[in-house]
Amino acid sequence: MRLLVQPDVEQRFWDKVQKLECGCWLWKGVKTKYGIGRFKYRGKLRSAHRFAYEVFYEAIPDDVWIVRRPECKTPGCCNPEHLMLGDRSIAMGNGCQRGTVNPPDNASIINTQEHKISRKFTPEQVKEIRLLLSQDVSVIYLTWRYQVDAHTIYRVKNNEHYKDV
Ligand SMILES: [Zn+2]
Repeated sequence: MRLLVQPDVEQRFWDKVQKLECGCWLWKGVKTKYGIGRFKYRGKLRSAHRFAYEVFYEAIPDDVWIVRRPECKTPGCCNPEHLMLGDRSIAMGNGCQRGTVNPPDNASIINTQEHKISRKFTPEQVKEIRLLLSQDVSVIYLTWRYQVDAHTIYRVKNNEHYKDV
């Protein structure tokens, strides 16, 4: 489900976005030293691109990474179409150039993320995950439910793991 915000909040967001010809949404507001936009919402500074993703697509748990698609060349780009769910390994694989890696707002979660990646499912869980996916349950929900990263769920989904289940 999308993050529902009041119109004035959304307007405040748009006031800080400049749409470029390449399709990127440049953030004109405050940025971190890595070029990641910051947007204050409910008294808390959040990453602008995460806020955009949640408003336009769906709300995401704090420990899910949002990374820029490889074809997007604008650090801190806030166009949800240029963003995708990821995890730390995808973020690192994308290259560590500034502004590409967009860690969760809650940085302390990174260690848990590493722990999560190594997690193994029981055959029952694999069947359950596949069943839920076939019923259009979102990957985001599953990452929360099983406390794993999105990559792990995609692997189950794409039969890269647990082929024998
Ligand atoms: Zn972009």
